[in-house]
Amino acid sequence: MREPAAVKAGRYLLDGRVVVELAQPGYFRAHVRGGGQIYVVTFGRGGWHCTCPARALCAHLAAAHLIAAPAGRP
Ligand SMILES: [Zn+2]
Repeated sequence: MREPAAVKAGRYLLDGRVVVELAQPGYFRAHVRGGGQIYVVTFGRGGWHCTCPARALCAHLAAAHLIAAPAGRP
């Protein structure tokens, strides 16, 4: 069974796989390590974006949402 993104996201945080690079009003950027790769999650004028190939809400975005300011959430 596939692990839900929200559960995986919590584990990413606990494992220290989320590294926030930049956090300021209206902009957020973090690196998330998952599946042996590093993905970049950003929030800016275009909304949330992750560099991984998933089209749905991925665990990287979900992990960023757990720590980003409420105003920056989708
Ligand atoms: Zn992703």
